[in-house]
Formats: sequence, C-alpha cells, structure tokens
Amino acid sequence: MSKKPNIATVATPKWSPGTICIQSGYRPKVGEPRILPIFQSTTYKYEDLEQVERLFALKEKGYKYTRTGNPTLAAFEQKITELEGGVGAIALASGQAATLLAVTNLCRAGDHIVSASTIYGGTYTLFNNTLRKYGLEATFIDPEAPLKELQKAFQPNTKVLFAETLGNPGLNILDFQKFAALARQNDVPFIVDNTLTTPYLCQPFAWGANIIVHSATKYIDGHATSLGGVVIDGGNYDWTNGKFPELTEPDPTYHGVRYVESFKEAAYISKARAQFLRDFGGCCSPFNAFLFNLGLETLHLRLERHSHNALALARFLNKHPKVNWVVYPGLEGNANRARIRKYFRQPLASGILTFGIKGNIQAARTFVKHLQVAALVVHIGDARTGVLHPATSTHAQLTPAQQLTAGITPDMIRVSVGIEDAVDLIADFDQALAHVR
Ligand code: PLP
Repeated sequence: MSKKPNIATVATPKWSPGTICIQSGYRPKVGEPRILPIFQSTTYKYEDLEQVERLFALKEKGYKYTRTGNPTLAAFEQKITELEGGVGAIALASGQAATLLAVTNLCRAGDHIVSASTIYGGTYTLFNNTLRKYGLEATFIDPEAPLKELQKAFQPNTKVLFAETLGNPGLNILDFQKFAALARQNDVPFIVDNTLTTPYLCQPFAWGANIIVHSATKYIDGHATSLGGVVIDGGNYDWTNGKFPELTEPDPTYHGVRYVESFKEAAYISKARAQFLRDFGGCCSPFNAFLFNLGLETLHLRLERHSHNALALARFLNKHPKVNWVVYPGLEGNANRARIRKYFRQPLASGILTFGIKGNIQAARTFVKHLQVAALVVHIGDARTGVLHPATSTHAQLTPAQQLTAGITPDMIRVSVGIEDAVDLIADFDQALAHVR
C-alpha cells in the first residue's frame, strides 16, 4: 500500500459551496477512476511490521481496518468537512450514532448536558433516558427563553450545550448569538445538529458552534437510500481549560498519546476516531459513503428546489379554509424570518413545513389517506414529498407535556417537501383536503 493514499489527503482550494459539493474529497490522478471508487474492503496491505506498529501508535497516517477509517469514507468526510468549514469529520452508521459520538467523546458518568428542548425525538430520548442510565444527566431548555433564564440550567459538571439549527419538527431557528454566548460564558463546547438546514443554508461554525452533527440519512443522501451520520470538528474550542483531561492527558489505551499535543486543532475528532470507533464501532459502510458523496453532488440544487417548493406549498396551505395553521420559517409573517436573514447563507428555509387541519385527528387521517403524490413515510429530506404525524410516531415516546416543549401539537402534520413540480404537490394536497369533512 502506498503510504499516501490519494483520497482526502490533498487539501482542495477554497471553492464556493456548489463546487465543493461536486469536486471536493476525491481528486483522481491521471488514469484513475473519475468517480469516487467504493473501497469495499475491511483490510489494507502493509510493507512490514514496523509500518503497522507506526499506524497503531498513531505515528503514521493510514488505514488499519475499515471500522476506524476507509478511503471512500475519507473522501465523503473531507467533502462535508469543507462544506461545514471544519478541520475533520467522522462518518457513522446513523445520525443517532453521530450524536452519541459527539456527546460521549466529551462526557462521562457524572457529567451533565444542557440541550434545547426543540430537538429530534430520538435525540431527546437518548439524552433523557438512555444516557441517564449510564450516569449522564440532561437538562432541557426552552431556546426562546432569555439568556439569564437559560443560564440557570448550567451546573459545575455541565460539559456540553446541544441544539438544532432548525428544530425538528418545531421548525424554530436557533438564536445562535444567544447560544454561543451561553456556551462561552460557561466555557463548554457547543454542539449543533445541522441536519435540516445542511451547510448549504447555514454554517454553524461561523456562529459559534464547535462540533456539528448530521443525520446524513436526510438531505445529504437526499434520495432515501441509506442510513448514516457524520460528526464534524470545528477545531475552534480550547480543550486545555481543565474540563477535558481525556484530550490533554495521556491516553493509556493508545500508547500514552495526548490528543491536543499530537493533533492540535483536530484533537477532538482524532480522539473520537481512536476511541469511539475502536470501542463502540458504529462506522459507516463504504457503500453508504459512496451514496452520501453522490447525494452531496446535488445538495446545492436540491436545497434550492426543496425550499422553493416548500414556500409555495406553505403559501397555498396558509390560505386554505380547512387548514388551521401553517409553520414554515420562510413564510411571510413567520417570526424566524429575521434569523434566516441573519444566520443563513441563502434566503431559503429548507423543505420542512408543518400544519394543522381543522377538526380532530380523524381529519388528519382522512387527509393523509387520500394523498396520491405525497406518501406517508417516517422520513425527511427525500427528493419525494412525504408526510408524517409526529405525535403518534417520531415523538410518540415523549409525554404530551414533553411533546409540547418540543413544539408538537396533536394536530400537527409534518411535510418534507420534495423536488417534484410544485404545481402537482399543491394539486395533490388540495384534492386530499377536499376529502376532509
Ligand atoms: N437529527 C435529526 C434532526 C433528525 O431528524 C434525525 C432523524 O430523523 C436524527 C438526528 C437521527 O438520524 P438517523 O435517523 O440517521 O439516526
């Protein structure tokens, strides 16, 4: 094996997002495949024992075993790193695995997490139930509460602040300035789930985030083919503040390596690869990484179309006599529009909207049953339009009170607006609503 694999080791020039989406990560040499190859191999070949020894001592860069790294994964990781403006990334088997890594790479039993309450239901139960069993406490905060109020949630053992850029499914846009100030004044890293916006619409590192997570399953894939997640390191947190000795002190399980000393600004992501992937696994498959890379090639085009279609559908629903309310951050009158102008790179609001039909749950059932273009699916970010009833599905494990703090009402229908022609989506919703009595 050549010591310098040509994938993801060459820094690409600073391009605009659309060019990064297409060109970054994999840069073939003359005669090599133009398209990113799928390295469907668990293992790699070496020169001699000394080389393997150097790899295992983290003294030489290279692949040991696909659980901790693979050239196809590396190309995808490099591309998403550049899109987010970070210093390194790890691809994982799912968005849930990504959040688990992001938090447990920093926290241990006895530590405490502060999280916005307006987050994906699976993340809520991870923090509120599962991690509690392992000794990690979580406090959920209303992201719209004043800074002074939010400050009360922090404890001496708080190790991270967590929030979503665009809450799923509350669709509140995070007040980054307030959250970055909270993280700064408590000297804790700020982790942001950027799944619903993607770096094409918002780059949280520019607004004070230190770590970003994605469910790659959503807009990164974009075609509902593959489960995956990714964690990106912003390289912008000072781990030497005494709160994170695992990053500054010798790691006895890796020949006493000190991550900050050896990997500088990429300490967090290097530790995660060395420890989390080795011990917990949860790695992404090369085939899925190939599909995520392909998905990213059209991310910039899809996000534009998703957003335009969602706005058109939101405007239609907003005027419909059988619709009680519509929430879409880009809709005229929505309180989040100022935050789009402030924090987003484009005047676009992504493809998710929610609305409530007049009448009881039966009205929602009738509507969903009669959709012909859109389908009832447990998913978002697909090229195809999908609908879901969060209170009885993704957020069903939350109590009614917890659902309300996550922004979910019993009548809420969530729509992931696809990239079909808007005229057909509007006609479909119109005919399905006509069945509601
Ligand atoms: N984060 C957000 C915002 C999500 O919407 C989801 C899933 O819906 C996840 C994380 C979890 O991702 P995955 O389903 O890939 O595990």
